[in-house]
Amino acid sequence: MTKLIYIDGLEVELTRKRVKKMNMRVKAPDGRIVISAPYIVPDKAVIAFVRSKREWIDRAVSRVRAKAAAHPEPADKKEKESRRRDLKRRIEERLPVIEKATGLYCNGWTVRDMHTRWGSCNTRTHHINLSLMLATRSDAELDYVILHELVHTVVPDHGPDFYALMDRFMPGWKKIRKALNYG
Ligand SMILES: [Zn+2]
Repeated sequence: MTKLIYIDGLEVELTRKRVKKMNMRVKAPDGRIVISAPYIVPDKAVIAFVRSKREWIDRAVSRVRAKAAAHPEPADKKEKESRRRDLKRRIEERLPVIEKATGLYCNGWTVRDMHTRWGSCNTRTHHINLSLMLATRSDAELDYVILHELVHTVVPDHGPDFYALMDRFMPGWKKIRKALNYG
């Protein structure tokens, strides 16, 4: 049985259990205060206990919250995996179309959980990496990144030849790059 009690402005989750003594924890990441207490301990003893530990509680809550802010929990693993699957399906569909339309082919591709760039191309092996961040972007944006990396299979840098090919294969690419804030 769990109930919420309020003690001097603190919200405490109190659970009665078959335990020998009272046990208090401050939970990550939000600093929830959770107490388990034996059935026979009255509420007022719990309240007195919390008051006696108030300084410790405040410190623990700040510590837990500061830690959570500095190291945000990674997105739920399952959700990430499903995003990865969806993105892979989209790439499997679009990549061959773009390769065929341009005559530029890669030697393989990988979806990587990278956060600072949308894609990369190994100009020696012609393997391209595509960021998992693309899972939340539009088809046009995905096409742009795929094309960008495919062009790198023949032009390693971002010189005039690179932009000439971009213009040829995707005349509206500048607008898409802007939306992606692509460097
Ligand atoms: Zn590039």
